[in-house]
Amino acid sequence: MKRIVVLGGGFAGLWSAIGAARRLDEEGIGPDRVRVTLVERNDFHAIRVRNYEDDLDATTVPLSTVLDPVGVERIRGEATAIDADRRIVQVRREGEEVELRYDRLVYALGSRLWRPPIPGLGEHGFDIDTYEGAKRLQAHLRGLAATPVIGSVMGEEARAVIAEALDALGVKVRTGVRVAAVDSEGVALEDGSRIDASTVVWCAGMRAHALGASLPGAKDELGRIEVDAFMRVRGVPDLFAAG
Ligand SMILES: Cc1cc2nc3c(=O)[nH]c(=O)nc-3n(C[C@H](O)[C@H](O)[C@H](O)COP(=O)(O)OP(=O)(O)OC[C@H]3O[C@@H](n4cnc5c(N)ncnc54)[C@H](O)[C@@H]3O)c2cc1C
Repeated sequence: MKRIVVLGGGFAGLWSAIGAARRLDEEGIGPDRVRVTLVERNDFHAIRVRNYEDDLDATTVPLSTVLDPVGVERIRGEATAIDADRRIVQVRREGEEVELRYDRLVYALGSRLWRPPIPGLGEHGFDIDTYEGAKRLQAHLRGLAATPVIGSVMGEEARAVIAEALDALGVKVRTGVRVAAVDSEGVALEDGSRIDASTVVWCAGMRAHALGASLPGAKDELGRIEVDAFMRVRGVPDLFAAG
């Protein structure tokens, strides 16, 4: 029996697994010959929060409802290492490390919000990078006594067109200056000025998932893996990357 393993149950991983299952079905190949297995740390697929949702639970889809009907096996666990030479993925599952052999691997672990080492950011900065992050921000906003004031901090590369649009909405924009520190009452900027805010949401850039760094082959400055037109990781047999 051969095995296609998909890492990550985001948009890329979910569609890879479902697409593989559909193709195998079209070819009349059953799970006794080829099994599709998806590894995801959560029980759900998370649709990125857009910030207009009142009920954040509506942004999650239980993976079993979409994978079970098409015969995709699911492993809830954390992918911790990939050995492309031995074609093995290491997965932490219920506190135990297990090895998963693959014949084809789809790497779809997504990206992460990049949080630079700015003092106070980890403690006081909110984000909407994950479902849990969005929940935390929502709870905080609901906990504010008065109308919430959201301090929107943009990186120096913020484009003028965004600034104009925000200006029209009455959102104050500061560009061309870096954040020096974040505290419970707002943001200190490198030019010595401050933005007072009861809420700071950090949205200043993404980096590819850290596990990709361990794979052979070229990466760009954001850690993204180079693939060919068929999403094959260049120079690594039977490994695909998507997302
Ligand atoms: C606020 C916001 C709005 C957006 N709006 C749009 C839009 O309107 N249209 C659009 O096309 N795109 C939009 N995007 C972008 C889109 O959401 C992303 O491009 C997409 O989610 C990327 O999918 P992905 O599968 O590559 O990664 P992800 O969605 O990040 O999925 C990765 C999955 O891997 C899992 N995972 C990570 N590490 C591990 C591990 N070690 N072990 C096991 N599982 C792991 C994660 O839990 C996650 O489920 C938006 C993004 C944001 C942040």
